[in-house]
Amino acid sequence: MSLSGPINDSNVGFGHLKWEKGFEEWNEIPRQLGNEQEAQVAATTSMASLSLPTSLTPPTDAQEADLTYSYDPTIMNRIQVQEEAIGSSPTRRDADSIQLESDCKLDRMVSAVTTILECIGENASREGLQKTPERYARAMLYFTKGYEEEIDSVVNGGIFHENHDGLVIVKNIRISSLCEHHLVPFTGTIHAGYVPDGRLLGLSKIARLAEIFSRRLQVQERLTNQIAAVIEQVIEPSGVGVIMEASHLCMVMRGVEKTTSTTVTSCMLGCMRSNAQLRDEFLTLVQSKTF
Ligand SMILES: [Zn+2]
Repeated sequence: MSLSGPINDSNVGFGHLKWEKGFEEWNEIPRQLGNEQEAQVAATTSMASLSLPTSLTPPTDAQEADLTYSYDPTIMNRIQVQEEAIGSSPTRRDADSIQLESDCKLDRMVSAVTTILECIGENASREGLQKTPERYARAMLYFTKGYEEEIDSVVNGGIFHENHDGLVIVKNIRISSLCEHHLVPFTGTIHAGYVPDGRLLGLSKIARLAEIFSRRLQVQERLTNQIAAVIEQVIEPSGVGVIMEASHLCMVMRGVEKTTSTTVTSCMLGCMRSNAQLRDEFLTLVQSKTF
């Protein structure tokens, strides 16, 4: 693991849109996203037929029963997730150097935090702060544990052959991440959907993938793109859409201090980008409170 592992913004080619509340052209969607009630839900799931938009109907029992997964263990041999292509490539070191790094990493972090405390004028040895550097170091390692997790091991066993050709949406995935510019949190909600092309991704896997990428230093735009890109890579669907709404403490606590501001980003790939009707269906279902 490396807290300074290279992370690039190379995936700017994705069709993402960004807007913030208050921007006229997008003010309808963000107002309806991420309401307080939905925010309490860790993740809810909906599936719907593609025969929309005239009828936004949930799947029938027969359609649900038709979702009999058949797992193909050979799939993961064929699909190798390339993190570089997704735009986040933490440095992987050999086992010896990882162990060496682990041995001294905590000490270095404790020393660094102690320095920060002293630089802001605190007495780092007073009772209340004595354990703070170590607490902070351990917390920071947890907040960035996504660097240690392998995409392949998360999705392994979670890809299934299935002919379902309607949207699959996982809504209200709560995430917490750290802004890479200020190292302060931003928290929000992700809605991810895709149109399968012969393969389904286990529903919990989407939330797991979102967790991995959010537990790295991030900017919201890249986090949104990476979640869409990894779904595209592992199951090669016809299209992917990811929408994220988040509140950034670096905006709330400093600078402009827009305490109620939230930022919404989206990434649409494949048919979700090229097909306006499909994209509208996705947005409608994401905003729907009936699923
Ligand atoms: Zn920031």
